[in-house]
Amino acid sequence: MISPTSLSYYILSLGCAKNQVDSEKLNGAFLDAGFIPAAHPQHADIVVINTCAFIEDAKRESIDAIFEMLTLRRRVKRGFPQKVVVVGCLAKRYALSLRNEIPEIDFIYGLVDEQLLPALCNAFGIKKEKCSFRQVPLDEGIPYAYIKISEGCSNNCSFCAIPFIRGEAISFSPEKIFADVDEATARGVKELIIVAQDICSYRYGKVTLKSLVKKICARTDVPWIRLMYCHPDHVDEELIELIAAEKRICRYLDIPFQHASANVLRSMGRKGDAETYMRLIELLRKSINGIHIRSTFLVGYPNETEDDFRMLLDFIKEVKLEKVGAFMYSPEEGTKAFALNDLVPKRIKRARYHELLSTQKEISKNALRKMKGKRINVLVEKHIRKNQWIGRTEFDAPEVDGIFFLTSKSATLHSIVNAEVTNFSEYDLWGISE
Ligand code: SF4
Repeated sequence: MISPTSLSYYILSLGCAKNQVDSEKLNGAFLDAGFIPAAHPQHADIVVINTCAFIEDAKRESIDAIFEMLTLRRRVKRGFPQKVVVVGCLAKRYALSLRNEIPEIDFIYGLVDEQLLPALCNAFGIKKEKCSFRQVPLDEGIPYAYIKISEGCSNNCSFCAIPFIRGEAISFSPEKIFADVDEATARGVKELIIVAQDICSYRYGKVTLKSLVKKICARTDVPWIRLMYCHPDHVDEELIELIAAEKRICRYLDIPFQHASANVLRSMGRKGDAETYMRLIELLRKSINGIHIRSTFLVGYPNETEDDFRMLLDFIKEVKLEKVGAFMYSPEEGTKAFALNDLVPKRIKRARYHELLSTQKEISKNALRKMKGKRINVLVEKHIRKNQWIGRTEFDAPEVDGIFFLTSKSATLHSIVNAEVTNFSEYDLWGISE
């Protein structure tokens, strides 16, 4: 049996913030068992790739990463040939194909859970005594922590593979969530990001999202609390009141509307339409002063006509959301939409995708233009050179939104400073503080 203390590991986390949380829990398990973290995959005895399989592009990225890691593979080190381990959504969905088509992978496991590390140690003859599953960031230098409040999704949108990869929605107990909040608070993070496939569906006994978030606010002094991913049909007045009343909750909401045409939305299994979504946006803007709304749209869904797409573009021009992402539909086995025949040709899908993003570009720029001259709080995340920093405002989530280029003589890493916005681009801001 090999001792974990003589072995190093590296985790490559792909996909969404929820997957990131799984990778961080696995990181905690490795560390507590005595393994040594490696800074680069080529220096690690065990490389774990936590994959994504949401859409075609994500699957391709995961496969590319697997081949890249297999190419990096070192043959022998202290008698332990490097192991390549594939886990996560792709592994859960395509375990058999991966096993048959890429036999060089040493170990395949589904979604990351508490049993993963014991199973891995067992497979590789590694002695393991301690067992934990606490969340430890892969990058110690980040001032924020994702807090996952539930797993899976029961919304069953017709295009989405998540419900059968990650299962029906299961809300975590408040105690489990509070333990993650307390650990992140103790690490001194400046931002907690509450994530789930649909946070609005959270319910644990009598505890709802509103009561949970209130309790989180009461037990932590972390200055920013961000709520991420609300199904548009589930955003209610309770949630809006909570964001309006609790100053530490970022005035930012990520609501993936996916489309605006009622025809497409019905086929997707969603209730809304352009009008109801416009009313929701209006209510949010009226109730929460200065809120920035982010959304994601899916283009090229089967049967999406030119009229449907024009309706979506008109909606985007009308509501002028501050931030928008888009993705192209890909048929996913097992989903309801997979059976639909009338596929939009790739060329048209791509053209619609680019048209949507270029329409949004100007809208985003105009939203940021309005911020010029205003004072705004910035979380300082990185030092570039003397008096130059990179940060983020409460209106920008990490990794997906813009950044703030800050000039400041007195800023310190991971502090929140008040800065004046001096310039802007389509996605980023520039500014100055003392
Ligand atoms: S709400 Fe999101 S995660 Fe859930 S099924 Fe719909 S698209 Fe997928």
